[in-house]
Amino acid sequence: MTLSFAYRRYSLPFRTPVRTAHGLWTTREGLFVRLENEAGGVGFGECAPIPWFGTETVDEAAAVCDALGASVDAERIAEIDAKEFPCLRFAFESAQASIAGRDVRAPGALPVAALLPAGRAALEKIHALAEAEFRTFKWKVGAGDAADELALLDDVVAALPAGARLRLDANGAWDRRAAERWLARVADYPVEFVEQPVASEAEDLLLGLAADYPTPLALDESVAGAGDVARWLDLGWPGIFVIKPSLLGDTAGALARLPAERAVFSSALETAVGAADALRVAFGFYANAAMETKPRAIGFGVWPLFADARFDGPRAAPFVRLTDVDRRRSKSEVLWNALTC
Ligand code: MG
Repeated sequence: MTLSFAYRRYSLPFRTPVRTAHGLWTTREGLFVRLENEAGGVGFGECAPIPWFGTETVDEAAAVCDALGASVDAERIAEIDAKEFPCLRFAFESAQASIAGRDVRAPGALPVAALLPAGRAALEKIHALAEAEFRTFKWKVGAGDAADELALLDDVVAALPAGARLRLDANGAWDRRAAERWLARVADYPVEFVEQPVASEAEDLLLGLAADYPTPLALDESVAGAGDVARWLDLGWPGIFVIKPSLLGDTAGALARLPAERAVFSSALETAVGAADALRVAFGFYANAAMETKPRAIGFGVWPLFADARFDGPRAAPFVRLTDVDRRRSKSEVLWNALTC
């Protein structure tokens, strides 16, 4: 069946620039795709690349869209290489799924991790987030001096409510020495996992650290596309995988082999359009997983995120429900129309 096709680019400043291992990120760039079938069924999808994770750039995705013209069919969409254009593939698959109206049988709600800012600022946030009933907290580390941050760890742990879980995310910032010091120290703390302690290129070091210390490690920047999940499983990675559905390309392929207890679903800082589809992937994954698997808190506590609040998903709360996700998704057309002005 032929589908009429259009796309629109966006360039959305963040409310607050996002600190990354590659410097400050001030503006989210991406594009929306719109598909319409002959019966008038319309679906939207979002391509939200993060090139330093190894995805395509927005320009590259837009060039593919330009080459497609005003109509596509399922075969042509399937020809978009999921390795080369993972984010664009996700956009098209999301739009197709939306037209098909595929139902997800899923848990009613998934727990959400609260984000703590780097450094001492984390301490001021914990109380209010605990009052709001968050129980999983992610603290950004590796942003300042490793010794100073390590000295704060006791205070952060002491401030957490009873039964809380703490995640640390170094965004690949530590060298071997800093990573070893931290991992030796956190062995005695209620740390759920340490995310990307060293750079994604340091694969042997990551495997060595995972073997040498008891606290689980999680790969984030190391997992750019579906192929990386399979590759790390083949390397014997014993830890956790941060799964950003928007970046995976072949989502079903990537998740097929992944044990449910080793996945942590996460935002790629998409707009509400792509986030709703990424969340549906997460809900679908747990619907298929064994019932006894308790989902790990998802990393979608990112909103408010954009200067233009219309593009935000639901404000961070300790749980997200599929019905909230679907309500947001029905606003895709409004956001598409917002890009004309
Ligand atoms: Mg991370």
